[in-house]
Amino acid sequence: MLRYENINDISDGKLYIQDDLVNCDTEGCKGCSKCCKSDMGKSIVLTPYDMYQLCKGTGKNFDKLLVDMFIELSMIDGIILPNMKMDEGCKFLENGRCSIHAYRPGICRLFPLGRIYEKDGFRYFLQTSECVAENPKPIKVQDWINIEELDKNTAFINKWHRFIKFEQKKVKEIQEMATNLSKRVIEMSDKDLEDYVTIVGDSDIYSPENPKAYREEKSKTILENAQQEVKDVMKTVIAFFYLDEYDMDKDFYLQLDERMKKCLKRLRTGA
Ligand code: SF4
Ligand code: SF4
Repeated sequence: MLRYENINDISDGKLYIQDDLVNCDTEGCKGCSKCCKSDMGKSIVLTPYDMYQLCKGTGKNFDKLLVDMFIELSMIDGIILPNMKMDEGCKFLENGRCSIHAYRPGICRLFPLGRIYEKDGFRYFLQTSECVAENPKPIKVQDWINIEELDKNTAFINKWHRFIKFEQKKVKEIQEMATNLSKRVIEMSDKDLEDYVTIVGDSDIYSPENPKAYREEKSKTILENAQQEVKDVMKTVIAFFYLDEYDMDKDFYLQLDERMKKCLKRLRTGA
């Protein structure tokens, strides 16, 4: 996910919706494959829809795409998500053309457009310094993206964005709570520590002669447990939305809604 300090610095200053005309039609890029050859880092982050399409188009599942190094898992904005592996250019680029053009990820479809999220959903913007095409022609945003069921896809992108925010918030809360608790254990008075030991049932491992040892061990355990909890949250999300194979004969969006309901329940209640 790319981040911009000031969108006006990298765009034409306008925000677009799907019916708007925007000057981004590169007319098939005319043999240029700069974007696909560059080391774009982790910028092509894959949504569950991208994964569904990639699996459908290549006949490979998530594991196979990982093992064959077409994709990788990376820490992106505090959580683990899959992205196209781009350090030596994209492996789907063959003879200067995208070999999965019909199934390419959403970010590839968009470029040189980007998305900016607002309270009521996202808008598109045009990145003006990224594409080398001379005088790209005007085209309707929806024709440039050229994706089936754009309205459903737009609703999904907004929903997925909100879900990612929820996951990031959950991870942050776990980390902050653990940091605060571990700090409190280190800093509380010996008297308060004795009360704490009783409340959490640690009397068998606490020695009043050496509270420092207990403080250090407990603080370390709190942070380790939080780290494990964070890993479990991320593993749950990857399993629900990427690892568990989709039924290619069924509607993606219905499957997504079902998974999201179950995943949210798991993350909120553990059930
Ligand atoms: S998937 Fe296709 S369009 Fe996207 S980076 Fe790879 S080769 Fe380029
Ligand atoms: S730089 Fe522009 S013309 Fe070249 S591959 Fe990227 S989008 Fe196409």
